[in-house]
Amino acid sequence: MNIPFVDLKSQYNEIKQEIDSAISEVISNTAFIGGKYARQFEESFAKYTGVKHCVGVGNGTDALFIALKTLGIGPGDEVITAANSFIATSEAISATGARVVFVDINPKLYTIDVTKIEEKITPKTKAIIPVHLYGQPADMDPILSIAKKHNLKVIGDAAQAHGALYKGKKIAQCADMTCYSFYPGKNLGAYGDAGAIVTDNDTWAENARKFANHGRAAKYNHEFEGVNSRMDGIQGAVLGVKLNYIEDWTEKRRRNAYLYNELLQGVVTTPVELDDVRAVYHLYVVKVEAAKREAFQAFLKENGIDTGIHYPIALPYLQAYDYLNHTESDFPVSLKTSQEIVSLPMCPQLNEEQIAYVAEIIKKF
Ligand SMILES: *Cc1c(COP(=O)(O)O)cnc(C)c1O
Repeated sequence: MNIPFVDLKSQYNEIKQEIDSAISEVISNTAFIGGKYARQFEESFAKYTGVKHCVGVGNGTDALFIALKTLGIGPGDEVITAANSFIATSEAISATGARVVFVDINPKLYTIDVTKIEEKITPKTKAIIPVHLYGQPADMDPILSIAKKHNLKVIGDAAQAHGALYKGKKIAQCADMTCYSFYPGKNLGAYGDAGAIVTDNDTWAENARKFANHGRAAKYNHEFEGVNSRMDGIQGAVLGVKLNYIEDWTEKRRRNAYLYNELLQGVVTTPVELDDVRAVYHLYVVKVEAAKREAFQAFLKENGIDTGIHYPIALPYLQAYDYLNHTESDFPVSLKTSQEIVSLPMCPQLNEEQIAYVAEIIKKF
């Protein structure tokens, strides 16, 4: 049996007619950049995330960068984020001219360790970016109280967490601004690059929209220099169709995760959720012994099962961050975790039979 890591083709086949007609409508109306279809999606996505405004942008990395710029973060500032994430999170911080300050992760949840944030706060700290990694909500209550105490802004990186809930609230309701990626493989994926910033704050939403469109207030009236990072009409239309399915797909991801949990209990280290959250399983990540990981992945591959590692090198140890001169003892949990984690196939289209097969092969190993 061949089990791909994600199966975007069968997702497309489920909704092909709707997608094809949505795309051709955009083309007929030549609404290529921004425009009606991007706007319609922004309105629906704002509702979905439970906040007032959604600003569609070019991709998730830009969403983070624009959110930081909108909050006035730049050279001389420090921004705190988790040591385990995709580089886009820290890259967006550096792109503003601010300094990235990494915090180690919780050994069970793999999200930022909330007990290690305060020791990293200095007079230069302006914001915290918790990452809802793998679709697991970061522990927002302690993060928000630390932010309040030290007067910091909170920007959620929800690139992997569309639809996640934290203690009954939508995750976007737990931060000043929240950033999403609609990279094709994400839980809500476009057919190209796209991203969004959501917020309840009217001024920030307006300024983020201007920043993403060359600082433009009206045609040829530029209040400041921004960037060119707008959502394409085609992406808005595709996302608008897919948004109608996201709840169903999310429930299927969760069902798949719980089935994996059941079958893999005691075999590998299965994921743990915080109490009272809705994790949305962008990735289903297990841990195996570091020394056996390569063989584990190879054995699965021989049996037709694709796996991944998210991420093999924790951010502080990437060559890109050599200048921060971190040592192995700075982020022991992130370092150890990065050597043990393996992501198993996960998508809504994965069925029970396939999951049972993956579990059987793992037990054989
Ligand atoms: C995908 C991702 C991003 C960046 O999104 P792009 O749309 O690829 O620019 C940022 N943060 C995390 C955690 C991601 O997974």
